[in-house]
Amino acid sequence: IEESVENYLEEVYKKIVQRDPHEDEFHQAVRIIFKSIKPALVKNPKYIRHNILEQIVEPERLITFRVPWVDDQGKTRVNRGYRVQFNSAIGPYKGGLRFHPTVNRSIVKFLGFQQIFKNALTGQPIGGGKGGADFDPKGKSDAEIMRFCQSFMTELASHIGPDVDVPAGDIGVGAREIGYMFGQYKKIRGSFEAGVLTGKGLNYGGSLARKEATGYGLIYFVNEMLKSKNERIQGKTIVVSGSGNVSIYAMEKAAELGGKVVACSDSDGFIYDENGIDVATVKQLKEVEKKRIHEYVNAHPNAVYKEDCTGIWEIPCEIALPCATQNELDEDAANLLCKNGVKYVAEGANMPCTPEALSVFLKNDVYYGPGKAANAGGVAVSSLEMGQNSSRMAWSFEEVDGRLQEIMRDIYHNCEASAQEYDKPGNLVVGANIAGFTKVADAMIELGVI
Ligand code: GLU
Repeated sequence: IEESVENYLEEVYKKIVQRDPHEDEFHQAVRIIFKSIKPALVKNPKYIRHNILEQIVEPERLITFRVPWVDDQGKTRVNRGYRVQFNSAIGPYKGGLRFHPTVNRSIVKFLGFQQIFKNALTGQPIGGGKGGADFDPKGKSDAEIMRFCQSFMTELASHIGPDVDVPAGDIGVGAREIGYMFGQYKKIRGSFEAGVLTGKGLNYGGSLARKEATGYGLIYFVNEMLKSKNERIQGKTIVVSGSGNVSIYAMEKAAELGGKVVACSDSDGFIYDENGIDVATVKQLKEVEKKRIHEYVNAHPNAVYKEDCTGIWEIPCEIALPCATQNELDEDAANLLCKNGVKYVAEGANMPCTPEALSVFLKNDVYYGPGKAANAGGVAVSSLEMGQNSSRMAWSFEEVDGRLQEIMRDIYHNCEASAQEYDKPGNLVVGANIAGFTKVADAMIELGVI
C-alpha cells in the first residue's frame, strides 16, 4: 500500500510539472505537502479512490487581467493582475493580494495552494485563494497608488463578493490600498458590501486587531511551542526578519512578553540593536514615513546597519522568526543558526525557509512552526472581520484579540495531535499539513465531483 501511495503522489506531481514546467515555487509548495500527507493517504485509501490530489492541485479558477494606469508624468503603464480561486470546498475563497514585481503565476499559485490548508487550520469557514499584481509600489506617489488600485479593482470586482471571494492584504497591500480598492468596488456595485474585502480601515467596517493579528498570532503560536517544553519567551534572544506588518507586530508582542528582539531587516539590509529593537521607531519609519530600515540608526546611533539582506541569520539567537518573504532562509543560513544555538523557528512569512533549510532544522531537533500554522492569525482575524460585517457589529480589541489567542492555541494543539496520530510527534510540518488537508479533502468528498 505504501508503494501505491508513493506511485500515486509521483504520478500527480509529474502531471503538474509537465503541464506548467516553469512554476518552481508552486512545485515546491506541492512537494512539501505531498511528502507530509503520505501517512494520511496510507491510512485512508478513500483519498486515492476519489483522486483528491489531482483535483486539489488544480485551481478551480485562475484569472489574469490587464491593469492599465496613468503615472504622475501622464504616461500610461500596464501591469498584470492575478486572482487564483483555488478551493472553495469549506467556504468562499479567501486570501491576500500581493503587489510586488516578483508576482507571477507560480507565486500566486504557491500562495493560493498553501492558503487552502492554512485557512482550514483556523477552524473558520474559508476556502483558499490569492492574487496580486507585478506592480512595484516602491517610490510611487499616493495618487499613483490610488489609480493603480482603482484600475485593479475595475476588473477584479466582477469576480469577487462577500460570499464568493474575499481578498485582503499581503506584501505591498495594506489598509491604504484596501481602502482605495473598497472605494472602487463600492462605486462599481452601487452597494455597500463591507464583507467583500478584509483588512479595511476602522472607519468603514474594518476590525480592531486585524493589523496586529498576523504578528501577534505568530507570537501566541511560538508561546505554545515554548510552553510545551516548559519554557517562556521572557529573556529569550529573538531575530525577526522583515520590517513590514507581520514583523512589526511580532516584535511588539515578543517585547511585551519580555523577549529580546535584537534584529530586523528589509530587502536591502538589516539592523542589529543589542539593547533590543525599538519598535516605535520602526513603526514611525515604515508605517508613517515609508522609509528604509537603515534610517533606524539615525535615531539609535548605538545600533548597527549592514547592507546584506540575508546576513541577519548570522546573528546568534534562540528564536528565529522569518517574516519577510519566500525562500529568504536557505540551507547555509539554517546551518549557521543551528551552530549558533537556535532552538525555535517559526514562519511569519509564507514559505520563507527552503526545503533544504527545513531539513536542517528537523535534523538538528529545532522545534519548527510552519507558516500555514504559525502565521494563520492574520487570515483568522480576517474571518472574524467578515463575521462582524455580516452581523453589522464591531467587537472590542480585547474580544478579537482573545479569540485570536484561542484560535492560535487550537491550531497548535490540533497540529501537535495530528503529528502524534501519524507517529511524528513534534513534527508540526506533518501535523499542520495533515490536519489542513484531511478537513478539505473530506469536504470535497462530501460535496461530490463538481
Ligand atoms: N495575506 C495573509 C496570509 O498570507 C492574509 C490573508 C487574508 O487575511 O485573507 O494569510
